[in-house]
Amino acid sequence: MAQILIVSEAACAQAVSAAAAFDAVRDVFAAMASGKARNFPVVREALGYQDALYGFKSGFDAAAPALGVKSGGFWPGNMAKGLTNHQSTIFLFDPDTGQLQALVGGNYLTAIRTAAASSVSIAHLARKDARVLGMVGAGHQSTFQLRAAVAQRQFEKVVAWNPHPDMLPKLGAVAAELGLPFEAVNREDLGAQADVIITITSAFEPLMMRDWIKPGTHIACMGTDTRGKQEVDPALLAAATVFTDEVAQSITIGEAQHAIAQGLITADQITPIGAVINGTHPGRTSDSEITLFDGTGVGLQDIAVARVAAEQAQNLGVAQIVTLG
Ligand code: NAD
Repeated sequence: MAQILIVSEAACAQAVSAAAAFDAVRDVFAAMASGKARNFPVVREALGYQDALYGFKSGFDAAAPALGVKSGGFWPGNMAKGLTNHQSTIFLFDPDTGQLQALVGGNYLTAIRTAAASSVSIAHLARKDARVLGMVGAGHQSTFQLRAAVAQRQFEKVVAWNPHPDMLPKLGAVAAELGLPFEAVNREDLGAQADVIITITSAFEPLMMRDWIKPGTHIACMGTDTRGKQEVDPALLAAATVFTDEVAQSITIGEAQHAIAQGLITADQITPIGAVINGTHPGRTSDSEITLFDGTGVGLQDIAVARVAAEQAQNLGVAQIVTLG
């Protein structure tokens, strides 16, 4: 008889720590770069109903092995109903038989796997002596980003800017909880102070200009995951060594789309972060180099953390098990 695990949002939060998400995302980025894992083309459609955007992100990782799909999207009217606007569920299938294995809540996991991606980039690309973390953005994802980033370097201070300043105290409270001084600054000051910068906004225009970024900075651009979105000056990508989760997404829906469209960089100048993890690319080669990670978000990240969620939730006894006759 087939058994299906159901792992709720609450169970996911109990089952998957930032550290476990880091390991899962690092390993799947490595598998992608060595050709053992691949993402399938993303489907994303406007439903023409409730103003909703709906789609699928899927992939197969032969190294794990893991097969699955994240299905969901964005329902802008949800907030008024007391629900999160982003809604998603991850389906895991048995790679040997195709049978459904688990239904896993995708909202918490999306935040934790996105934070894991930027923290993997910090671990592999930021200067070892990075001390000031700059946060551009203060929405839902930002607190997850901050928590994951501080585990990677001995940060002594957080500087932050957000287009809606009233959102900053929530981020400041997390910094305080982590024992870090927090300062709201303007964007130029943020660039002048920060050794590592994370951008995590819904912007459609450059928020950080090339001239504001000091030599040796690592910047993780995490907000741009759709055509038209943008967070930084395209000239910054031309000045930086650019890394990404997946090049095909980086040049079409990621931050690199603008530098590519303007002919400032070419796709072969963008390196999958997995190559650095695998040791086939040196990553940062000097203390004055600017490194930029274009985190676009791939289905295999979702599948990787959903596997951890299913396994750990079962171990903790917080997964529901449905037996099909
Ligand atoms: P949120 O709605 O909670 O917060 C949005 C943030 O963007 C806030 O800081 C807000 O002040 C700012 N913002 C809103 N409109 C803006 C505008 N027009 N210009 C500049 N800034 C603006 O969203 P969130 O869940 O924190 O997500 C932030 C971004 O990250 C979104 O663009 C989302 O699509 C993206 N995201 C990326 C990934 C990935 O894997 N790369 C994963 C999840 C979310």
